[in-house]
Amino acid sequence: MNGDPLRLYVHIPFCSQKCPYCHFYSIREDAAAHERFVRSVCAEIDLWKPSITNAQIVSVYFGGGTPFLLGSQHLASILTHLASLCELTRCEITIETNPETTTIEELRAFRALGVNRVSIGVQSFNDRHLRVLQRRHTASDNRRVIEEARSAGFTNISIDLMYDLPDQTIEEWQETLTEACSLPINHLSLYNLTIEPATPWFRKKQTIEAQMPCEETSLQMYETAQAAQQRGFVQYEISAFAQPGYHSRHNVGYWQGNPFLGFGPSAFSFFDGKRFSNIANLNEYCTALASGSLPVDFVEEIDPAHRLREMVAIGLRMNEGICLATLEERWGRAEQSLRQTLNRFIDLQLLAQQGPRLSLTPRGRILYDSLVVDIV
Ligand code: SF4
Repeated sequence: MNGDPLRLYVHIPFCSQKCPYCHFYSIREDAAAHERFVRSVCAEIDLWKPSITNAQIVSVYFGGGTPFLLGSQHLASILTHLASLCELTRCEITIETNPETTTIEELRAFRALGVNRVSIGVQSFNDRHLRVLQRRHTASDNRRVIEEARSAGFTNISIDLMYDLPDQTIEEWQETLTEACSLPINHLSLYNLTIEPATPWFRKKQTIEAQMPCEETSLQMYETAQAAQQRGFVQYEISAFAQPGYHSRHNVGYWQGNPFLGFGPSAFSFFDGKRFSNIANLNEYCTALASGSLPVDFVEEIDPAHRLREMVAIGLRMNEGICLATLEERWGRAEQSLRQTLNRFIDLQLLAQQGPRLSLTPRGRILYDSLVVDIV
């Protein structure tokens, strides 16, 4: 391998239905569109050929959407195309999936293609909560898919769980966490429900928020998740827990501010000091690539001082925290106001200083969202 480390993301936008809280770009499954989509992704990869060929690819992440809907043959076309440009044999290659669309045959097929990590959208082991979220799978589907992923040869399995759900109690959240930790998984990503603009639930925001746990209960739910640590899942980021050696190499790259390229409609990239995103429309995305253009609809040149602030905020998400001096070597000297803010958080015991490193205290992790506002 040679070159700088680079992570690749492929956004596969097809879903069997739209979940009412989802703010990712996704469209209803359309098998007739798969071939054109795959051709377009390969064309987009070609436009980045020099950057990919000269890099050391750390990870490839197939997210969405529901990548499983694309099927192993189409995924094979994308992976084969990438493998013709760069070395993928030592990469972490992840595919996201939802229990209702996952079969053991496809799991085996993806594993045979070299996919070595699966991230399953479990969300809950409580059937009532899954119905509230309008998911099309049950707790028993969740258990089945985790077991099938194991028997298909996946030794690196992550699941997503959600809390702050309407009418969810701390005890119910505890039960879901306990069950998750008892299953053969290696990684947990925890998300609290938020009602985002442009989602079906946004129109009913007030009604739904009235049913969600109050702030105090929500904080207790977050603290409850710490119990996963007694079951061998070490917290390494605000919302991520992993058994030793099973942290997400892909996501750690985001949190450490490393470059990544995203392919597919709506995919984000951070590369060469710029942040950009693709057109969030499948047809327009494919049309741009058919005419040989990059399907980019937004580019931001990042001012180094602002980027340093962002890197401090993102880096603090990780339990290992940040070394400000190291970030300054890359992004330039920190403004006095940023130093004052960090010192204030140290005085308030929201940040802990150990040698040159700064990291969030347990209370700082709980209050992270408000800290970020002051840092950035
Ligand atoms: S399955 Fe995932 S990506 Fe698709 S609509 Fe639901 S939450 Fe969004």
